[in-house]
Amino acid sequence: MTESATALGIDVGGTNLRIAEIDSAGRILSRHAERVTNGREAFPNRLAELVASYRSPNVGAIGIGIPGRVNAAAGLVLSAGYLDIGGLPLAAWLGATTGLPVVVENDCSMALIAECAIGAARSAENVVMFTIGTGIGGAIVQGGRPLHGHATAGQLGHITVRPGGERCNCGRQGCVETTSSGTSLGRLIREAGLATETTVETLFARSEAGDGVASSVLRAWAEPMRDAATSMAAAFDPDLIVFGGGLGNAMVRALGQLPPETSWYSYDFRAAALGDDAGVIGGGLWALAAHRREGVPQSSLPAFAADVGRVPVFIPQQP
Ligand SMILES: [Zn+2]
Repeated sequence: MTESATALGIDVGGTNLRIAEIDSAGRILSRHAERVTNGREAFPNRLAELVASYRSPNVGAIGIGIPGRVNAAAGLVLSAGYLDIGGLPLAAWLGATTGLPVVVENDCSMALIAECAIGAARSAENVVMFTIGTGIGGAIVQGGRPLHGHATAGQLGHITVRPGGERCNCGRQGCVETTSSGTSLGRLIREAGLATETTVETLFARSEAGDGVASSVLRAWAEPMRDAATSMAAAFDPDLIVFGGGLGNAMVRALGQLPPETSWYSYDFRAAALGDDAGVIGGGLWALAAHRREGVPQSSLPAFAADVGRVPVFIPQQP
């Protein structure tokens, strides 16, 4: 690869799939989005078609974010929510099909890589991220690289904050996903007797006008999130905690309005900056960082990825 090398970043969501060509500064050179194609054969086949369509001569690697549990070192999808691609050796398959090196990560890890490189966590090396949407995703960057643990570290929506609370999809009770997700906010709105179409912006407006019901809904939504964030601060002492996803800004605002709590642990927190582009930018940058191990000059990449010796990457065998 040369200084002008680019990568394809692919962000697979529960609903939409985004693909973009990303340069080494994290700029989007071209992009495309469509509804995600489900199916054990249909999904990878559509992915290969998209790569063929959006691949320019400069593209030297591919980075894919998957909404679920991923074994990044093996390039293997373990589970991906309702997408039927569990067990798919995605990096090996797409690498062999396209002839390009492929990195696979959890989608939230890719978003956090982008936020660390050019977004809300720029130049921070130890960052925790929660993504607040229908559910709650999470990722941890420690020492400038995603933390994987045995394989799938970062499932932060399943931190227990209310023991004995609502049953979670994961089989346990009282996970923060059951208290502070978008789904939970909808439930809190209904339980408070408010109209089901009430938006979080409406809640803030009513709360600021002195409406105690709106204030209590926002507090009930944000307080368990603060418990989860403070637990992460106790465990990892990050430089920063970032809140992304469709409700990331709202969560930061709601957290800022909570009455102060007294604990040993304090931390900076802020909203993610890159919105829906974070996944493709992170995918592209991480693919470039991984490929650089094969000889790309270091000056072409963000400082956060200066040490990529342990980046998992699948290099296909040349035929
Ligand atoms: Zn759970």
